[in-house]
Amino acid sequence: MMRTVVIGGGPAGMMAAAAARAGGSVCLVEKNEKLGKKLFITGKGRCNVTNAADMETLFANVCTNAKFLYSAFYGFNNTAVMEFLEKAGCRLKTERGGRVFPVSDHSSDVIAALERELKRLGVEIRLHAEVERISVSNGKTTGVILKGGAALKADRVIVCTGGISYPVTGSTGDGYRFARETGHEVKALFPSLVPFEVREAWCRQAMGLSLKNVSLRLLIGGRRVYEGFGEMLFTHFGVSGPLVLTASSYYRQGSEALLLIDLKPALDEEQLDRRLVRDFEENAKKQFKNSLGGLFPAKLIPVMAELSGIDPEKKVCEISRQERQAFGRLIKNLPLTVTGTRGFEEAIITRGGVSVRDVNPSTMESKKVGGLYFAGEVLDLDALTGGFNLQIAWSTGYLAGNSS
Ligand SMILES: Cc1cc2nc3c(=O)[nH]c(=O)nc-3n(C[C@H](O)[C@H](O)[C@H](O)COP(=O)(O)OP(=O)(O)OC[C@H]3O[C@@H](n4cnc5c(N)ncnc54)[C@H](O)[C@@H]3O)c2cc1C
Repeated sequence: MMRTVVIGGGPAGMMAAAAARAGGSVCLVEKNEKLGKKLFITGKGRCNVTNAADMETLFANVCTNAKFLYSAFYGFNNTAVMEFLEKAGCRLKTERGGRVFPVSDHSSDVIAALERELKRLGVEIRLHAEVERISVSNGKTTGVILKGGAALKADRVIVCTGGISYPVTGSTGDGYRFARETGHEVKALFPSLVPFEVREAWCRQAMGLSLKNVSLRLLIGGRRVYEGFGEMLFTHFGVSGPLVLTASSYYRQGSEALLLIDLKPALDEEQLDRRLVRDFEENAKKQFKNSLGGLFPAKLIPVMAELSGIDPEKKVCEISRQERQAFGRLIKNLPLTVTGTRGFEEAIITRGGVSVRDVNPSTMESKKVGGLYFAGEVLDLDALTGGFNLQIAWSTGYLAGNSS
């Protein structure tokens, strides 16, 4: 009988183990004391399991190597994931933007459903068991060696060790080492879906301020690579929040990057200028610094007053047309210079990983070592927020498990 060892009890590993069970005996090896530690914290503890979008949108939300996912996505798509979880006893609901969550809003219910399914299928689960290395003989895997020296023999080994972000959850990048040791290329690793650090010191002044309904552009070398509308947040080091995390997927470390915030995206430049004229007429006798309450939240007023270059003590009626128009341009293009991103500890995902050129997209089997498979975030695949990263884990895990 075919024997499969799955390394890593995250979403990719649990799905791979469930899918592999049909073809023989399966052992799921997890170094933590429980399964799905990262899954537990996903979606702020609610677990955005997938996205209910059509296939085209699923692919469009994958940032790196979308084409590689063709067989995986078509073989086990978002509908299949939802059916799988519902059948295993986890009821789901779809929210704004197609985001799918458990009805209970508890990620623990997703994990419990997967555990029930693994138990029902008779998958052997080994917790507190850390794989040290993968054994290979004559170009084929023969199993794994655990920390402490015990050997687990297997005809197939599926590496589902995740990325290297949020390493406290157990995703410490061991799979990259396994891949290198067995002759695979690993593409450079970067934190992604991660906050930005910026040069401008005023961010600190605005720390804690959340801006809703703004638009954000990311420029690299002067070229716009991302534009989005939504919510962002100022922190002691720079900026964070949904818009910023998405923008980070388009950032390349070391590149000259600029963020431009449009604080009034609903108004074009002319409309904004008319609004400023009106505001300035109403506040004609006030000092400039005391006239901005209707335009910005309190924390941003001193910042905008200073960046405008207009004397803050100046009476509003003395502000020139040029000054007002330049102020309008600032409101629509508030600049922040990106100096880098936060580290892997704060990154939702890892960009880079096991090169997809070394892996067969129809099976997830290595092209270098027979019987060795890779699935989930350990691969050089990443997507935007909205449930798409978990869909990658479910789809590639299922395909790897199901291919024998
Ligand atoms: C805060 C946060 C929120 C997120 N929210 C969402 C969301 O709502 N929706 C979404 O789609 N994505 C979300 N993601 C991303 C998503 O969690 C990951 O893409 C997904 O967990 C990757 O699954 P995986 O199975 O490949 O790896 P992981 O979930 O990282 O699992 C890998 C497992 O392998 C184990 N392991 C590692 N090395 C070894 C070894 N040597 N021996 C044995 N076991 C080992 C680890 O302990 C771990 O349990 C979020 C990520 C974070 C950090």
